[in-house]
Amino acid sequence: MSYDVAIVGAGIVGAACAASLSASGLRVLVLESNDVATGATAAGMGHIVLMDDSEAQLALTGYSRDLWNEFAEELPADAEYEHCGTIWVAADEDEMAEVRRKQSVYTSHGSDAEILDALSLRKLEPNLREGLAGGLLVEDDSVVYQLCATKFLLERASRYGAKIQTGVKVVEISDGGVKLENGDVIAAGVIINAAGHAAAELSPALKIVKRKGHLAITERYPNFVRHQLIELGYLKSAHGSDKDSVAFNVQPRSTGQILLGSSRQFGVDTTEIDFNILNRMTSRAFEYMPDLKTLSTVRVWTGFRPATPDNLPYIGKITGHETVYAAAGHEGLGITTSLGTAELLTSVILGTKPAIPIEPYSPSRTITEH
Ligand SMILES: Cc1cc2nc3c(=O)[nH]c(=O)nc-3n(C[C@H](O)[C@H](O)[C@H](O)COP(=O)(O)OP(=O)(O)OC[C@H]3O[C@@H](n4cnc5c(N)ncnc54)[C@H](O)[C@@H]3O)c2cc1C
Repeated sequence: MSYDVAIVGAGIVGAACAASLSASGLRVLVLESNDVATGATAAGMGHIVLMDDSEAQLALTGYSRDLWNEFAEELPADAEYEHCGTIWVAADEDEMAEVRRKQSVYTSHGSDAEILDALSLRKLEPNLREGLAGGLLVEDDSVVYQLCATKFLLERASRYGAKIQTGVKVVEISDGGVKLENGDVIAAGVIINAAGHAAAELSPALKIVKRKGHLAITERYPNFVRHQLIELGYLKSAHGSDKDSVAFNVQPRSTGQILLGSSRQFGVDTTEIDFNILNRMTSRAFEYMPDLKTLSTVRVWTGFRPATPDNLPYIGKITGHETVYAAAGHEGLGITTSLGTAELLTSVILGTKPAIPIEPYSPSRTITEH
């Protein structure tokens, strides 16, 4: 049997592509070597966030956030979608200057963004330490339990006739089809490489490396944290090229649990917990929220963000191919940008006008490293 589209990878990006393309009437096959949502998607924090590291990042996160806000009405309760907003926390007056810059960029992009002084910050988040300078409240950001959202996207794709095969490893991608580990060849008009950080193994034109992260989750402490809280220094951690970095980043879950991040490490391939990094990460969090120390943690885990040299994903046709496309390399924003990625790729494949310019994400772009 042949398909219109074969998608390699059933993480949130492959799942979103499957839902969008099958809803457009195409016959879609998803091939996943493991089980659904077991790669970076299983490890992520589920923060749907507007980010402005570059114009292109702002455009894609903004577009995707709008799509999530529309999609929220359809999500089942177990996807735990919460419109909790983000507060970017400023420790001092220098960081307040960054708050003002960010507010101006966000509002000129049509997003809400409210500057908080020290008092309003404390009122909104009483467990933050005293003496912080203020922050930026972005009310339209949210959080989601991305595992259930991924499964829901795949169920939707199935309802439109898509076939999802797990435990099937793709070993070769070429124009016209994919080859499986067992030697079978499956023909498809279009192939989408959505294999996360493994995408580069199948398509060497893509430059993607693993960027390790640690997260921890506490027992239930309802209302201890009310918004996703991130220190402004997170931006340096997320976009810098330091080998190891940590930043204060906490998230309230609808269960009352608190998800605590985050760390970034290049050049580490093992999944083990690095207690030195974990210690740095929690110490940083205690500096901002001292009473976090008193809470019990139930689990700590690690995962790998699929990182590209310029922090932008690859969305579009892969150089040297006629019918092979990439949807990979979303680093720490793949949950946020999955829906936008899927819509952009669907437009390109169907030959319709994309909602935002797609060129900045083209796999053939000239990459300037940050
Ligand atoms: C600690 C951490 C925190 C994060 N927090 C956030 C956050 O708050 N917000 C946000 O937006 N993003 C966040 N992210 C990033 C986000 O999780 C990723 O960008 C996103 O999950 C990438 O999805 P994906 O579908 O591209 O990749 P994956 O989820 O890795 O999926 C790729 C799939 O392809 C399969 N595959 C690989 N090779 C093959 C093959 N040869 N054949 C068949 N299948 C194959 C894999 O098994 C895997 O299931 C975080 C990531 C980490 C690690």
